[in-house]
Amino acid sequence: MEKIKMTTPLVEMDGDEMTRILWKMIKDELLIPHIDLKTEYYDLGLEHRNETNDQVTVDSAMATKKYKVAVKCATITPNAARMDEYDLKEMWKSPNGTIRAILDGTVFRAPIVVKGIEPCVKNWKKPITIARHAYGDVYKGSEMKIPGAGKVELVYTAEDGTQTKELVHNFDGPGIVQGMHNLNKSIESFARSCFSYALDTKQDLWFATKDTISKKYDHTFKDIFQEIYDAEFDEKFKAAGIEYFYTLIDDAVARVMKSEGGYIWACKNYDGDVMSDMVSSAFGSLAMMTSVLVSPEGYYEYEAAHGTVQRHYYKHLKGEETSTNSVATIFAWTGALRKRGELDGNKDLMEFADRLEKATIDTIEAGEMTKDLALITTIENPTVLNSEGFIKAIAKRL
Ligand code: NAP
Ligand code: MG
Repeated sequence: MEKIKMTTPLVEMDGDEMTRILWKMIKDELLIPHIDLKTEYYDLGLEHRNETNDQVTVDSAMATKKYKVAVKCATITPNAARMDEYDLKEMWKSPNGTIRAILDGTVFRAPIVVKGIEPCVKNWKKPITIARHAYGDVYKGSEMKIPGAGKVELVYTAEDGTQTKELVHNFDGPGIVQGMHNLNKSIESFARSCFSYALDTKQDLWFATKDTISKKYDHTFKDIFQEIYDAEFDEKFKAAGIEYFYTLIDDAVARVMKSEGGYIWACKNYDGDVMSDMVSSAFGSLAMMTSVLVSPEGYYEYEAAHGTVQRHYYKHLKGEETSTNSVATIFAWTGALRKRGELDGNKDLMEFADRLEKATIDTIEAGEMTKDLALITTIENPTVLNSEGFIKAIAKRL
């Protein structure tokens, strides 16, 4: 059989530990036998980041600007323990943070829905994608403990020196206070990323804040979304048969629980942090969650939502068998290949991505799965496969 040709390379960002092992197996067993795989390879493994003073991470993000589509393996974010373990020159920053700072954009997380791995919420039939704004609010807040009686004010000093003040509270005893901010520019790019992704995936977009209580802060989010929708997306949404829907955050939560899924839920930074953990655990497993960074300029970086699965890697190093779930990493590849195909008008590549996803889902639905899924499946007597066995079972179906 002739291999599928690619015209433009994908940016390939290799990573660390157990996911690095899975990465190679996926390429060898599932991709290279079928595709004339063209990638521009960047080794984001911690050793190589350290050797290059983390320049490789910056280079990989710049390459993503050039080629528009990247696929990334999970990577270690160094902490004190990793400093010793890898003898690091510096505690390098989170690669995801570095890449996000260069590409800008919004992270979309969606569960991979499989029969036999049932969501705890009975009526959820289709995936719910969370779009989390990744800038500002409490994550860039400044806080104070107020020791006793006194007045707290917000003060804005304009460049010409004029001041505007707003009373926060007249304290008559100890308390606490917090100041936070966001930027119109960041909210605008969040809105555009969400609307574009909704069009891309042909799903409705929901957005919610607490604008009735926060009449300036949250209301600005609501207004910016509406202005951008009206000016740039209304006609496109109507043509695609999808809807933009705004409501209050408490109403949104109630509706999400009663819905059957199948939409994108755009969340402010804190809401997205909380709700994505709720949605992913209700759908079953972090190992069944995809993640894609979509920039307002139309750059895409696909990855799994989980980390490098360190505990399994240490078992692997000791020569013990592992049963690590590769589904989210496989779907990072299929997401990137499909997008590459779409941008290049390469139908064969898009169809291959569909077939590989189907083979993966069929394998699980036939009862062949890794240990994490076997523990939660409703399928009786599942066959528990090791890391490699699972990928080989998919390869056979493919
Ligand atoms: P993790 O790698 O997501 O793993 C946490 C636990 O979740 C695992 O020990 C395992 O549970 C389970 N798990 C996660 N993915 C799994 C999979 N594919 N198959 C089976 N089980 C899976 O998180 P972590 O251990 O906290 O972090 C490890 C490293 O990953 C850290 O250095 C961190 O910096 C990095 N990290 C990277 C990213 C990224 O690159 N996007 C994201 C998060 C974390 P059991 O041990 O119970 O089997
Ligand atoms: Mg969190």
